[in-house]
Amino acid sequence: MCGLSVGLAWMLWLLLAGCAWSEPPPTPDPGEPFRPGLRAQDRSTALAWETFPRYDLDIRLADDRRLLTGTGQIRVPNPGPDPWTSLVFRLYPNLDHYGGLLQVQSVAVDGHPVNFLYQAADTAIRIELPQVLLPGEQTTVQIGWSLAIPEWADDTPAAYRLFGISQGMTSLPLFYPSLAVYASAEADPARPGWWMDVGTVRGDAAFNRASLFVVTATLPSLQVPVASGRELARTPVDGYRTRYVWATGPTREFLLHLGKDFRSQSVEAYGTQVTSYWLPGQESAGRAALQYAAGALRALSDRFGPYPYSELRVAVAPLSFRGMEYPQVLLLGTQLYDTALDELELRTAHEVAHQWWYLLVHNDPVNHPWIDEGLAEYASGIYLEVVHGRSEAEMLRRRRWEAVVERLVAEGADAPLDLPVDEYASGAQYEAVVYGKGALFYHAIRRALGEETFFAFLREYAETYRYAIVEPSDLLEMMRRYDPGAADALWREWIGGRDGPIR
Ligand SMILES: [Zn+2]
Repeated sequence: MCGLSVGLAWMLWLLLAGCAWSEPPPTPDPGEPFRPGLRAQDRSTALAWETFPRYDLDIRLADDRRLLTGTGQIRVPNPGPDPWTSLVFRLYPNLDHYGGLLQVQSVAVDGHPVNFLYQAADTAIRIELPQVLLPGEQTTVQIGWSLAIPEWADDTPAAYRLFGISQGMTSLPLFYPSLAVYASAEADPARPGWWMDVGTVRGDAAFNRASLFVVTATLPSLQVPVASGRELARTPVDGYRTRYVWATGPTREFLLHLGKDFRSQSVEAYGTQVTSYWLPGQESAGRAALQYAAGALRALSDRFGPYPYSELRVAVAPLSFRGMEYPQVLLLGTQLYDTALDELELRTAHEVAHQWWYLLVHNDPVNHPWIDEGLAEYASGIYLEVVHGRSEAEMLRRRRWEAVVERLVAEGADAPLDLPVDEYASGAQYEAVVYGKGALFYHAIRRALGEETFFAFLREYAETYRYAIVEPSDLLEMMRRYDPGAADALWREWIGGRDGPIR
């Protein structure tokens, strides 16, 4: 405020000098573009916005959808404790089962061009930093790239395609260079340094720090986009293209999924807009998916704590009878809308549960897949319990998890729960152990802790590790806070590490 009881000369001086010096302009709000991606009731939550990597991406998709070109500016904060002499970005489209070709054309650090080296079967580049990035400091990386998008010939509803063009849809998860996760020796003694694992089609392959995204995308106007985050702008560019801007709250990655013929409908659930997208001929299944997703969002929010984002989208995708979780988006296979319709409800609940156990609380999906998969699977039973009653949930446990694990044991094909994805002998063994036995492990925790304590434990686990990454030891420590004796006994009985018990 300017002074009042002063002489005219003083007033004049103040006017000439301006009052602004006594009221410095407000510092820009680092959370400003990202708050719309959160629910209205979560937008004022204090978040250390500067501690998240921030991606500002500008991409263009060719009219035939076979080529994407992009430039990005990525702010990279070093959270410590190690100083960094290099950075690693993952190029997930170059994974064999993604089938894309992402080529990096230029890299600069704080405006200075730098060299880079392809690594990990071309699914990563390493950038040597011009100067050491100390803990607490940040740097900005500018990257230009092109991405050749595969068009799959196996255009049947049985085809499972995570990436590229299939069945008239275009799925583009991780279409940009994605900062690798870094673990200090203290955080992950088994695998310190930049995470360079190369996943396969059997499990999930992407591992990411929670990050902020502003994505500007110029797309063919005929395509209906399904994206992570909140749409902030939509502008026609010429007769054929539209420019969109989306921004997210803290999130693991950014998904773009397109279909020319998508129809959609939305409902509101606990302050989140839930939208379902389907293809012509799938209307009743598409509307059912909307109700299932909204119902799961409410039921699981009540058990695990709030879902903080303003959007949740569910869309049909070329994923056969399977589903796949992305931030604020779940993709469900075409067969779930048709021949496997009786699986649609459970699959939707499982993928909605991943919004807690993958998106909010993340874990290494290649080396410890059971942490989130077992809990997402168990959560589909919690959803059933809330919506259809306890006996339905018991039937699920009996048929889907116990019977499957018993069969595995009878065949002498059991395996430990905490194994990397590719150490399982087959896809069937992987699914039975990681999903079936994994779900039963969480059920055993529930029986040991009792009803109320179990959900208090899960809510605290979600709250404590929101936007963070957990190791198995973090889960064990959280269990110990509620019942150290039971926690240790359960861990010995069910987990015990990579050479741990089989049952
Ligand atoms: Zn899953």
